[in-house]
Amino acid sequence: MTNDKTLGNWLKEMNLGHPLTIAGPCSAETQEQVLNIAHQLSKNESRVTVFRAGVWKPRTRPGSFEGIGALALPWLQQVKKETGLLTAVEVANAHHVKLALEFDVDILWIGARTTVNPFAVQEIADVLQGTDKIVLVKNPVNPDLELWIGAFERLYKAGIRKLGAIHRGFSSYNKSQYRNQPNWQIPIDFKSRFPEIPIICDPSHICGRRDCLENVAQTALDLQYDGLIIESHHNPDEAWSDASQQITPTTLHEMIHRLTVREKTFKDATHLNQLTVLRNEIDQIDQKLIEVLTERMQIVNKIGQVKKEKNVAVLQNQRFNEIMDKMFQKAHKTGLSDEFITGLYREIHQESIRQQEKIVNS
Ligand code: PEP
Ligand code: MN
Repeated sequence: MTNDKTLGNWLKEMNLGHPLTIAGPCSAETQEQVLNIAHQLSKNESRVTVFRAGVWKPRTRPGSFEGIGALALPWLQQVKKETGLLTAVEVANAHHVKLALEFDVDILWIGARTTVNPFAVQEIADVLQGTDKIVLVKNPVNPDLELWIGAFERLYKAGIRKLGAIHRGFSSYNKSQYRNQPNWQIPIDFKSRFPEIPIICDPSHICGRRDCLENVAQTALDLQYDGLIIESHHNPDEAWSDASQQITPTTLHEMIHRLTVREKTFKDATHLNQLTVLRNEIDQIDQKLIEVLTERMQIVNKIGQVKKEKNVAVLQNQRFNEIMDKMFQKAHKTGLSDEFITGLYREIHQESIRQQEKIVNS
């Protein structure tokens, strides 16, 4: 699969626009809702070329709206006929795939809760064998690059060549500003392993709320993603699922027009472009560094509490020397200099002592 240069051809050949823009409600609710949203999204200037709608909804807890089911598939056929938009639905088992094929859905996507399950992915790949469907694979809910790649390999082995990846973020037990942490390094690693597979960002499921969608979408475009999939509903507050992250077609339209689309390839004297992409990667890593350092300090503070309770000295030189030895060994393997590691860890250690001093003396 790694050397197959044809995997992204479908996107180049189908003239779906750059960035590929997929939009539509989290869930198909009624025929009227589906058609209303599709007509609004299909207006010329909107750049949307694919209409998404969840028909079978994987819900974390039972009792929530679990989708209209097959009843909604004719509505999607009607969307295609009336607006010219292609259609996309989520499939999670063989039965869903059979129905989606029967009703001529153009693009299937495998949801994050399905990508984690090799049995389900295999079952889907088996039914797709012999078709030339476009299949988009969302990252698994957990931050596991190999599991994501494994799903692609199963589809590839079944002969599917029109593939794409959707980055929808990763779940975490820690509360954060995101519904699902973007962990940008994972899709970046995916892209460097499989440069031919188009990658699409799903800011809706990363953010979980409206006010961060634009930021995440712009970051994705800065990292040269090939497309965006964004949930849009004519009356977001009343949506039957994911109400807090959906936006109206008008808001989506305005947002899309504010986004800066970067050049895909170099034109003369546009090295700046490459620089922007690399700087954005650095920015993401720097953000992560601060998060990791903060997490480290939180643990340092817990140790400070224990030292206070037991009346033990803050400075434990032997422990610091052990840490340094371990870090030197690790750094030698990755090519970082002793000088750099010494300086870095002195700073970290000093800050740890400062924080513990405050606790012990409080
Ligand atoms: C969805 O796209 O509506 C959906 C359920 O997404 P995910 O699989 O990313 O949670
Ligand atoms: Mn949703």
